Amino acid sequence: MDKYAAVRKKFPGSFREKVPASSFTTYRAGGPVDILVSPGGACEAVWLLRHCAEKELDFFITGESSNILVSDGGFPGVFIYTGAMKNFFFSGEIAAAECGCPWDALVGESVARGLAGLEKTSHIPGSVGGAVYMNAGAYGQETFDRLLSFSAFDLETFKMAEIKKEETRYSYRKVEGIERYFILSASFLLETGGKEKLLAERLEIARRRKEKQPLEYPSAGSVFKRPPGDYASRLIDSCGLKGLKLGGAMVSEKHAGFIINYDKASAADIRALMLKVKEEVLKKTGVSLELEQILVGKFDE
Ligand SMILES: Cc1cc2nc3c(=O)[nH]c(=O)nc-3n(C[C@H](O)[C@H](O)[C@H](O)COP(=O)(O)OP(=O)(O)OC[C@H]3O[C@@H](n4cnc5c(N)ncnc54)[C@H](O)[C@@H]3O)c2cc1C
Repeated sequence: MDKYAAVRKKFPGSFREKVPASSFTTYRAGGPVDILVSPGGACEAVWLLRHCAEKELDFFITGESSNILVSDGGFPGVFIYTGAMKNFFFSGEIAAAECGCPWDALVGESVARGLAGLEKTSHIPGSVGGAVYMNAGAYGQETFDRLLSFSAFDLETFKMAEIKKEETRYSYRKVEGIERYFILSASFLLETGGKEKLLAERLEIARRRKEKQPLEYPSAGSVFKRPPGDYASRLIDSCGLKGLKLGGAMVSEKHAGFIINYDKASAADIRALMLKVKEEVLKKTGVSLELEQILVGKFDE
């Protein structure tokens, strides 16, 4: 019996089977996900989530897959890609966007409108949903700095929810309890700033990212969170690990915080290198690095 028959029927346009994660994740690694499907809006997304629960189908929500590593064995379930839910709009100083809107499209538009508050997060890859989930940030600005609220489907109560920022507990790259929500959209309060200055800042950030990050190779950004009072990349560099290779994975020589897929790395290569770096840094500095990236599927360790 085809356990995905109803999903196939409901999403004839976007339903795809056995899609290699190496074809859609920014790491360009990982095995096949059973089903990749892209709801066109909140109603379709909620139908799918309810259906997965009812039929006991595993699912995973993804935006641009820029912060995940899928195992070589893949994922035995439904990957819900939010990319078709990508509208955004502005009303005065408020910006609102659906979960699948590329984060940088929202930032770019706010800068073009002379609205300040997100400009330092320019060019972070990923979606609005991913940015809220991760409390993504850069150069001193974080997603939650400007968040007003997000609307979501609550995977515990199976009800719609509107969550105000004040009701959440968030910190650097962490939002407590966020796993229970399918984030559908989010709104942000910006402030009128000098457009020319914001545009210049956005350009400068693009330049710095290009200069400091190995953007010419597949990766998923910083592997580890910043430990209190330090930088993971500084610690990794101080342990002499830049350029360390395992299979096709390598600690970037440009930015020690990144692991790059420099030559057809398997997910196992990348995961083994993550563990090696963590072990070496602990041994040499006493600091236990915490993974920022999200592992999907089974890894042998
Ligand atoms: C070159 C490069 C540079 C990067 N630089 C930065 C940086 O400067 N700062 C930074 O913070 N990050 C950075 N990242 C990491 C990444 O881009 C961010 O974490 C981004 O916010 C992830 O968004 P995404 O849509 O790709 O999420 P995904 O990778 O698809 O998912 C990440 C997590 O969010 C969950 N999720 C996604 N969408 C939803 C939703 N709608 N509802 C519920 N859960 C959801 C997923 O289930 C998963 O657990 C970088 C990555 C790369 C490749």
